[in-house]
Formats: sequence, structure tokens, C-alpha cells
Amino acid sequence: MLLQLFLIVIKSVYKNMNQKINFKAPDENKEKESLKTLQDNIHIITDEVLAVIKELHKKHGKEINNKLIADRMIERGSISKFMSDQGHRDTIDESELTHLKKTVDTVLDKLSDLVSPSINDNYIEMKTLLKERDYPEGFISWMNSVIGIIKKYVNSISEENDDLKVFLQNVRAYLSEMDSHLAIELSSHDEKFQEDRGFEKIISSNMSNIEQSFDIYGDMKSIKKAVMDEITNISRNMEKKREQDILRLRETKKAVEEMNKKMSGIKDEVEKMIERSEQLESESLLDGLTGIYNRKAYDRKMEEMLADLHRYNHPASLLFFDIDKFKKINDCFGHHTGDLVIKKIAHILKPKLRENDFIARYGGDEFAIILSHTLLEEAIIITEKIRSYIGESNFSYKNKKIHITISAGISTFKRGDDTNTVFQRADNALHLAKKIGGNTIRNEDDIVINEGALN
Ligand code: GH3
Ligand code: MG
Repeated sequence: MLLQLFLIVIKSVYKNMNQKINFKAPDENKEKESLKTLQDNIHIITDEVLAVIKELHKKHGKEINNKLIADRMIERGSISKFMSDQGHRDTIDESELTHLKKTVDTVLDKLSDLVSPSINDNYIEMKTLLKERDYPEGFISWMNSVIGIIKKYVNSISEENDDLKVFLQNVRAYLSEMDSHLAIELSSHDEKFQEDRGFEKIISSNMSNIEQSFDIYGDMKSIKKAVMDEITNISRNMEKKREQDILRLRETKKAVEEMNKKMSGIKDEVEKMIERSEQLESESLLDGLTGIYNRKAYDRKMEEMLADLHRYNHPASLLFFDIDKFKKINDCFGHHTGDLVIKKIAHILKPKLRENDFIARYGGDEFAIILSHTLLEEAIIITEKIRSYIGESNFSYKNKKIHITISAGISTFKRGDDTNTVFQRADNALHLAKKIGGNTIRNEDDIVINEGALN
């Protein structure tokens, strides 16, 4: 009987350990230590059981029965020593305790179905006492209460061998039912679930071999050998399982680490790519010669400003200008000097504009300035300032003064405009300015009013 009890205890301790593997991030060293303690205890309790049997055998010969074994073991304090050793894990945490409590509660409830009527009252009383206990008062004392109840229970039933057999069968059936229940509850991972079930079966078969050895072998020596062999098997299997679990854990950790590494590598790559594409994007909006915005940037800005006008009614004006007689400059001073003129115009104009104004080289000797929050009248004033500023600026070639002038056309953004219509009005005004001789500015209103007069 005590051997059966011992097997149940092993099973329950194993279950408890197994739960830790499934649900908690396992601490390998702690797990190893725990396994070592369990293995040591298996050996201690086996030696203990066998020593008691041997001792009793000497004294009582064939008269030896389960009650004698139980009494002797209780006398020697064998079980509580074993249980206390198991319980001496001050690292047990709340969730483990709650789970264990639940398991033992269920075991106790199930056992009441099996308890013989003669001790039923006694059993219920013990069970109630145990259930009422406050668990946080300590794992060891709580385990000792369980041991206390089991001791009493063993004492009560060990007299009836037949009852005992039925009881053991039922307990075993219950345990295997609980096994499946716990395995399902504890294993969320299919592969691990299969592995655990396989392990359960191996342990169950080891245990039933131990039980059978009592029936199969007549003499103590053979029983001892059979039991020791099976215990060694159990230890080996547990060790193997533990190694599997640790290996799996390491592999998972490694895979996660590698994945993290890869992920952070990819993240760096993506960041670099974004940075590069932003750089390329902004580079693609700049004019190579002058460093100011180019035609592409101008097109975008025009879309933006029109959207602002339509959404927020923000006014804006477009100033489109072109260098007068630029071909001549190229012809007289060379293309390179022409380049320098274009560059200088861009550089001297940029600081003259407000922060929100936008200047781009539209192409060739043409420039576009978008004046935000600016109506036509104000735009005319600004454009005139720009025209006279350029006309008064110093341009020279080999100490020879070059007179540079510009002409400009102005239009203001109107509701219903698209980028083309705004541009077209400014370009028409520019043409008008050129037509009347250059070095002048015209606005969109001049086209209607003056065009006829000029022809
Ligand atoms: P208008 O007063 O009517 O504007 O006469 P224009 O001579 O300036 O004639 P137009 O504006 O049509 O000609 C612009 C010239 O600018 C044509 C081209 O040879 C020259 N050009 C265009 N791009 C560049 C450039 O990047 N560098 C130089 N140096 N010249 C350029
Ligand atoms: Mg020109």
C-alpha cells in the first residue's frame, strides 16, 4: 500500500513539475535541482520501503502484511521526511500553490467516492479540515496536512486487502483520467502534448511493472531487484524528458534570438532604405545648377497651394520670370558665364524671399516664385522689387560689367483653377512683358486690358 502511495506521490510531484515546464519560463538550473531532489527522494523512499520490508521480514517472516509495513513507515517518519523534502522548496509561487491546491482538492473529492462507509465520517471531517486551511501559511505545513490525512486513511483501510485492491484500481483509473485532463489543460502545444503523453505512458508502465513485481516475484531479493530496475528506468526516463524539454527550450530561445537578430537587421535595413529614398527624393527635387527647387518640385508645390486655396481659401500668387536676351549673354561671354548668371540670380533672390515663399528654376533661364498668402496687388509690388533688384545687381565677366534684366508675369490663384490655368495666365503676362521690350513686369489683368492696345 505504501508503495502505491509512494507512486501516487511521485506522480503528483512529477505533474507539478511538468506544469512548471509548460506554463512558466523555466529556470534550467532550478529545474535540474528539482529533478535531482526528486531522484534522490525516489532512491531514499525506495530504500526506505525495502529496508522496512526486510526488517519486518526478519521479525515476522511470512506474516508480514501491509498494515505492518504502514505502521513501521509511519513510526520511522519515512513519508513525512520524503514529503517535507519535496516541500522544502521555498521558491514555490502562488500559481503553483493554487494549482496544487486545486489538484489535491479534486483528489480528495474523488477519493470520497472510494472511501469505505466505515471510515466515511472520519474522512469527511479530515477533508473539511484540510480544505479550510489557509494555504499561504506555508507550503510545507500544507503538505504535512495532506500527509496527515493520507496517513490516517492508510491506517484505516490497510486492514482490508480486497478493499485496498479495489481502491488502488480506482485511484489508478482516476489518476489516468486526471492525467489526460491535466495533459490537455497543460499542453497548448501539439508536439509537446504528444511528447508528454508518451512520457506519461512510459512512467505509467514503469509504475505498473513495480506493482506487478510484488505479485510475480516471491522473494525479497527479486522484488528488490525488480523495483530498483524500474525506479532506475523512471529516473532515466525523467532525465531524458527533462533533457528534451531543456533542449526544446534552448532551441526555442535560439530561434527567437535569431529571429530577433534578423528582425533588427531588417529594421536597420528598412531604416537605411527609407533614409536613402528620402534623400534621393529630396535630391530629385533640386536643380543641379542652382541648388534651388526644380520643375518637379514646382509642380508639387503648385498642387499643394491649389489644394490649400480650395480647402482653406488661402490665397497665393505665381510669379514667372525669364532673363532678358539671355541668348546674347551666352553668345558674348560663353555658356559657362551664362550658367554663373543663372546661379547668381537664384542665390541673390533666395534670401530676399519670405520663409513661406517658394522659388524654383522652371527650366533654362526661367524661374517661378510662388508667393503664399499673397493677393495680386501685393504680388505686383514684390515682383517689381525683384525686377529692380536684379537690374541693379552686379554681374560681371573678366571685370566687365554685364547688365542683366528680367521680365515677369504674375497671376493669382483663383477658385476653380488648376496648375495649368494659373501658369498660363502668368506665362501670357510674361509674354506681354517681353513684347513691350522686357525689363518689365505684367500681371494677368494687363493681358485683357492691354493686349489689344499693344497690337
Ligand atoms: P528673351 O528676352 O525673349 O527671353 O530672349 P532670350 O534670349 O532669353 O531667349 P530665351 O529665353 O528663349 O532663350 C533662353 C536661352 O537660354 C536658350 C538657351 O540656349 C539658354 N539656356 C537654357 N538653359 C541654359 C543653361 O542651363 N545654361 C546656359 N548658359 N544657357 C541656357
Ligand atoms: Mg530669356
